[in-house]
Amino acid sequence: MFVVQSYDKKCNVPNVFVIFVPTMSLITAFGNMLRGLLRYCVVCHRPMRTHHFSICPHCVARLPFVHYRGAVGNPMERLLWSNAYDIGRAQALLLHRAPSVTTIFVRHFKHHEERALLTQLTRMAVAELRDTDFVATIDAVVPVPLSRERQRQRGYNQAAVIAETVARETGLPCLPDLLQRVVDNPSLSAEHVADRVAGVAGIFRAAPEGEAYRHILFVDDTITTGATLRECAHTMADAHTRIHTFSFLTLFVASGLHVGYGRAEVTSNEDELIRSKPTP
Ligand SMILES: [Zn+2]
Repeated sequence: MFVVQSYDKKCNVPNVFVIFVPTMSLITAFGNMLRGLLRYCVVCHRPMRTHHFSICPHCVARLPFVHYRGAVGNPMERLLWSNAYDIGRAQALLLHRAPSVTTIFVRHFKHHEERALLTQLTRMAVAELRDTDFVATIDAVVPVPLSRERQRQRGYNQAAVIAETVARETGLPCLPDLLQRVVDNPSLSAEHVADRVAGVAGIFRAAPEGEAYRHILFVDDTITTGATLRECAHTMADAHTRIHTFSFLTLFVASGLHVGYGRAEVTSNEDELIRSKPTP
């Protein structure tokens, strides 16, 4: 009815808007559909050829890698040493400082369900260990549990996605229920190390099934002071006499922890990446 009424009755020529508007709408819809099919790099926003990654090869080449490769005695491992348990090895992939390219990633983790980004970074962290014996004696992978409140806000636990990816890449079992968080809202924003240690004390509970495992790999997205990962290990060590060794893997390591370990190389690469970022 609308189309018939909009015709010019005198010369019987269709009104140009009757053709133009629907045609433009169709073109816009088709463009949006194509845009939805493409995937864009989360750093430089260039379109990518694959749906499986979130960072393009151009940006991957300029990420601030810390190059730990699970090496014995690296800064992360030293931070997590304890008299309460034996440490296996520690691995992190990227240097995290604010503002930097890793803050883009952290923002994506917190505000979007960015599983492809987590998976890509985790696979890179595991790939660095391929020629090492990092996972040789590990029995199970356990994610750092997220509070119920935060999981409800974010819709998922990023540490669980990292743990599932590590398990898939290494063939190890992923056992998220071996450690549970029993306190929902610990104060983790405090900058002082002592405050953070006090803030996480007693927030976890170890499941009885953990007794069957001797070497656990804990995974999380970021290590800042190490307080949370140490509390995970202490909780498991206190609850089970059989578990005596813990290893740790995170995607990011805070810049304060990383000082003195290849920092100059990391800084120049990252600055180049930030400078080369085009306007979205
Ligand atoms: Zn890119």
